Amino acid sequence: MTAHPVYLDHNATSPLRPAAAAAMRAVLDDVGNPSSVHAFGQRARRLVDGVRQQIADVLASSPLDVVFTSGGTEANNLVLLGAQAERLIVSAIEHDSVLGAARASGRPVDLVPVDREGRIDLDELERMLAARQERALVSIMFANNESGVVQPVAEVARRVSAAGALFHCDAVQALGRIPVMPALLDADFVTLSAHKIGGPAGVGALVVRGAHALAPLLHGGGQERFRRAGTQNVPGIAGFGAVIQDVLQSNDERTRLAAWRDHLEATLSAAGGVVIGAGAERLPNTSAIAMPGVKSETQVIALDIEGIAVSAGAACSSGKVTRSHVLEAMKVPDALAESTIRISLGWSTDQDDISRAIAAWMALRERTRSNRGRDAA
Ligand code: PLP
Repeated sequence: MTAHPVYLDHNATSPLRPAAAAAMRAVLDDVGNPSSVHAFGQRARRLVDGVRQQIADVLASSPLDVVFTSGGTEANNLVLLGAQAERLIVSAIEHDSVLGAARASGRPVDLVPVDREGRIDLDELERMLAARQERALVSIMFANNESGVVQPVAEVARRVSAAGALFHCDAVQALGRIPVMPALLDADFVTLSAHKIGGPAGVGALVVRGAHALAPLLHGGGQERFRRAGTQNVPGIAGFGAVIQDVLQSNDERTRLAAWRDHLEATLSAAGGVVIGAGAERLPNTSAIAMPGVKSETQVIALDIEGIAVSAGAACSSGKVTRSHVLEAMKVPDALAESTIRISLGWSTDQDDISRAIAAWMALRERTRSNRGRDAA
């Protein structure tokens, strides 16, 4: 009997939760544009507005603040390009959708550095805020997709607001994995995405707290209160709603994943693995771990052959082997950065998956060690 494949790449995308699949299936057999006045349209609108309310509840916000988008990338682009600010301050470890949009905005951009554990330098942020008069938009993520390191978001919000600037937080990796409230209570903009937590890909939201002006990226109809034109992705939004419901009740899941992740790290570290960001608070599901001397691509391929799916850094940059800007910003030495893989757990992970991942990692470590021994002989 061949063993089932082990999926440990939830930070890239998570399998669809059964509750999300069921909610989407129900809608797929239905018809209705939420902007239509007839009964079909109104039914779709009620569904969309119900999920809008759910998202607002998660962030103690108003449903009027929720702008549905095609995912985290669009939400990040919408705020970085559309918020009213003369300059941008973003951390060096943001997702490429923040960094790319910041560069494309044509506005001056300051990059907040991080320490060796991947935590942003709050003093440097403060200095950047004070350095110029023009209004800044500050974009700092809640938790990093590669390292899992969690940022001091409440403190960032406090300092940004004291400086009269705007604060955007990309909470894509944090939602459902750690409590995001009350830390986000004072964030002006929050990015969310459904597919990292078992919802469908292609749907997300930007929460715009209060009456901040936002220039739309897309022009057309008056959907989303003129902030995002285009017919809403009703099945996607239904899946997003189902997953939020599921995830907010899943304390047990978080505790379980944290215990397995800790066991995995303890075992691999004892065998020579090096955990990146080990000294910082991290997401309970994420482990960036180096096998010194073995290239990350080699590890990813070798583990894949054993049926274990992990990634060599950010999913968006895997496939093409580029240096990770996150590990670079953390000043991880090149040799270690080049041998780091990301193992990320999620709702479908079980204990057997962890045991198999550990066994495959150990076997690879043993093989590469004895090959090196042979080469040296
Ligand atoms: N922000 C972070 C931190 C992410 O990890 C990702 C996905 O990798 C995104 C934004 C983009 O989200 P989406 O895939 O929904 O466009």
